[in-house]
Amino acid sequence: MLWIDARRDFGSRAASGDIPQLQATAIRIKPDERLRIVNHLGQQVLDTWIFAADAPFEFMSMEHCRDQLYKLFFEVGDELISNRRRPLARIAADTSPGGHDTLCAACDFLSYERQGHGTDHPNCRNNFLTLLEARDDPAAIVPCPWNLFMDIPVASGGQLSDRPSGARPGDYIELTCLLEAVVICSPCPQDRIPISGEGRPPRGLRWERIPSSQ
Ligand SMILES: [Zn+2]
Repeated sequence: MLWIDARRDFGSRAASGDIPQLQATAIRIKPDERLRIVNHLGQQVLDTWIFAADAPFEFMSMEHCRDQLYKLFFEVGDELISNRRRPLARIAADTSPGGHDTLCAACDFLSYERQGHGTDHPNCRNNFLTLLEARDDPAAIVPCPWNLFMDIPVASGGQLSDRPSGARPGDYIELTCLLEAVVICSPCPQDRIPISGEGRPPRGLRWERIPSSQ
């Protein structure tokens, strides 16, 4: 079983950077700093996890957030909580159409195989585990990501469907971290279902750190 202890030194402390495709990127954010994630090319879906840096095994939990906020989609002002119900981050800004998916697991080798795309398709689970040097751990548990910019409407009967992301080039979301945290992001390499745009290849995003004084 993979458990993540973000107390070890891990995550970029730079002022800004790229979130390249085909890999996961870790960013370390201090309390009251804001992390801006920029969809500079538009429509790219981004699997996102947040881990507490002061405690092992504590991460942003989609099921706990839905329970606490009592909704499926999170908005500006909402606090995102951990599996121990501690507030980890607050959504400070969102220029995108919102509706970021909270329901879907990270894509993996098996999900692509089931869709008929072979056994070695790039995937977010593998990106995450490779970053954490746990790629070959068969028992690794990957928490459900927050799927930024991913539009999965829920019909009145509960059915899900796919829609291309409505994020425009330059749209961004900002998260204020409420304690020291490590944010991990994986641009989703899904290229068969057009969640990241019709006919568009997978691509990277960018991030910026905004100090607490600004
Ligand atoms: Zn994915």
